[in-house]
Amino acid sequence: MIDFQHVNKRYAGGYEALTDITFSVERGELAFFTGHSGAGKSTLLKMIAAIERPTSGNIFVGQQNISALKRSAIPYLRRNLGLIFQEQRILLDRNVFANVMLPLQVMGADSRTAAARVRAALDKVGLLDKEKANPITLSGGEKQRLCIARAVVHRPTILIADEPTASLDTGYAREIMAVFESFHQVGVTVLIATHDRMLLDATRSRVFELTQGKLAA
Ligand code: ADP
Ligand code: ADP
Repeated sequence: MIDFQHVNKRYAGGYEALTDITFSVERGELAFFTGHSGAGKSTLLKMIAAIERPTSGNIFVGQQNISALKRSAIPYLRRNLGLIFQEQRILLDRNVFANVMLPLQVMGADSRTAAARVRAALDKVGLLDKEKANPITLSGGEKQRLCIARAVVHRPTILIADEPTASLDTGYAREIMAVFESFHQVGVTVLIATHDRMLLDATRSRVFELTQGKLAA
């Protein structure tokens, strides 16, 4: 499903963030990426969505080699992906429902099916009773569940989350992990970058360890 072959990433300025990364994740697998801050976890996940591009090597998502994907093809790649990154802001000028609706509006979805999709996504993350709430009134865990609902509302086959439990208490972190597990259980491929020991200790899934841009054997 996701296949990295000898991938290097050197940022403008010369810093080599990733060195000779080779791994694959199967369709429907849930996998973790861990390592210290600066190890390259975000860079690696961003390359799957073509937010960052590799300097060399090949990246396959599904059957497609996305290493040299044309700019115009990137939106099609992202239709298969649900992205949960720190820099994605919740919009505070509209309610929970409208925040989750936004990606479907951007894609031009028909508004009646879109509303049903939004409710289905809110239901999956346990936020249906908060659809009219302003996001500012949500707890940390609820805000993160809103971000997950927004990321899955277009029914992606791959879900990618960067430090989804950062700044959450243990109880909330467990809830968030249960949400990811539920998507994994219906066949979604889930990739999570984390240095949360609690998550890593509790999992039976594969854990890839990055150290200064290199993947441990
Ligand atoms: P992690 O997610 O494991 O904390 P990152 O992928 O964010 O690691 O960063 C890996 C390395 O690449 C760090 O040294 C970071 O400073 C550097 N880096 C990240 N983004 C950029 C960028 N846009 N330009 C230059 N260097 C970057
Ligand atoms: P449903 O609960 O609608 O029957 P399925 O079990 O048929 O869902 O899942 C099929 C695909 O739909 C999965 O690959 C997954 O990507 C996606 N999916 C399931 N539920 C949701 C949801 N609430 N939001 C987004 N995508 C979902």
